[in-house]
Amino acid sequence: MFNSLSDRLTATFTNLRGKGRLTESDINSTIRDIRMALLDADVALPVVKQFTRGVRERALGAEVSQALNPGQQVVKIVNEELVEILGGQTRRLNMAKSGPTVIMLAGLQGSGKTTFAGKLARRLRDEGHFPVLVAADLQRPNAVRQLEVVGERAGVPVFSPERGNEGGHDAVSENAEGTRSYGDPVWVAQAGVNQAKLRQYDVVIVDTAGRLAVDENLMQQAADIREAINPHEVLFVIDAMIGQAAIETATAFQDGVDFTGVVLSKLDGDARGGAALSVASITGRPIMYASTGEGVKDIEVFHPDRMASRILDMGDVLTLIEQAERAFDKRQAAEMARKFSGGEDFTFDDFLQQMSAIKKMGNIKGLLGMMPGMGQMRDQLNALDEREFDRVEAIVHSMTPFERNNPKQINGSRRARIARGSGVSVSEVNQLLERFGQAQKMMRQLKNGGGMPGMPGMPG
Ligand code: GDP
Repeated sequence: MFNSLSDRLTATFTNLRGKGRLTESDINSTIRDIRMALLDADVALPVVKQFTRGVRERALGAEVSQALNPGQQVVKIVNEELVEILGGQTRRLNMAKSGPTVIMLAGLQGSGKTTFAGKLARRLRDEGHFPVLVAADLQRPNAVRQLEVVGERAGVPVFSPERGNEGGHDAVSENAEGTRSYGDPVWVAQAGVNQAKLRQYDVVIVDTAGRLAVDENLMQQAADIREAINPHEVLFVIDAMIGQAAIETATAFQDGVDFTGVVLSKLDGDARGGAALSVASITGRPIMYASTGEGVKDIEVFHPDRMASRILDMGDVLTLIEQAERAFDKRQAAEMARKFSGGEDFTFDDFLQQMSAIKKMGNIKGLLGMMPGMGQMRDQLNALDEREFDRVEAIVHSMTPFERNNPKQINGSRRARIARGSGVSVSEVNQLLERFGQAQKMMRQLKNGGGMPGMPGMPG
């Protein structure tokens, strides 16, 4: 998902690499590229317009930043606008204060509703809830059976009136309402919710019928169910592969049933992602979950900011940059830049200064976790012992100012003294000096080759 959009956008930013100043024509051509990339990804035209307008205004308004070069600034703006388009903040399920939380699912047939019902139930069960599934899709011949299979896989009971109901109770004797019958999805939904109350389940997930295309009967039925069960959430499930039809479908469901949140399904596919990028902005309803496979655990809470980062292939580097902007003062930043570009060697004093700035930015694991590519290195990251950093700092503090500025002069007797002073072994001091020597060498090479390390995917 998003691979080609991602490639296109990153290529656009590469063109800005190394520019000291962006002219209006630089900005215009960047906007043109972004616009084409979005349209090719099937993003709806009104959304593309809104997006490019936002980026353009802000890029021309030249938000001045000490820490970012103009290319990086554009990336930052694009990222922030992307988050906005994707719905802004992460939105969590609205849970009932008392009694069961009722969640109704709506969407076209084949959109992935039933599959998602199982995933959501499982997720909630794993979080300590007691969910029950209700099969109010009486349209499709096999729908009830399908939900039963899904429920079995998720380890969650299914209320299926056609067969009596789960646990062997008779729904009709407990919930009979006049002339209504098993064949009436509104009645089934209502009976399901009542059952959940009686048996003290705390979440009821109601799967409703879909059709292959939007039609009025379907909408009316969904609206009737909504009215009858008064759900806390109505989640509209939409297939991310649907392309340009996303807008029409989403708007039809919004007008017909209305919904409180969106579920993007089949996000694991190689669709171009237009639905994802359009639906929140067109309907004003947040995307709450992503469904990412056929397995019962393939579900993710949708975070607009993380999705934007994924699209821009930058890990969470922007948060990292913002934290750096806050942690370094301007003078310090300028001093560092001078060191990196000039002929001077990196010293242990610089090292201490960086350590303290990094500490101001937050915990080191958290920082590393925001780097792109760190997803695959999660285990190594977890094994990292933060106390190691304290030991290193203690060693450096045991050095004299002369030693900090002239690491090469630290001979055997100095090493022994430093080890005693910081309460570590001489071999730990040796290791640090060796690694420091390597780091110095690396920085010298970088100086000659140009460019700063550590910001993959970022221009400049
Ligand atoms: P419903 O008619 O809306 O209930 O849709 P279903 O849940 O029956 O899903 C339709 C088809 O899409 C099934 O073959 C599912 O296995 C498949 N499907 C559903 N969600 C996903 C998903 O997130 N990823 C993939 N790859 N397939 C999915």
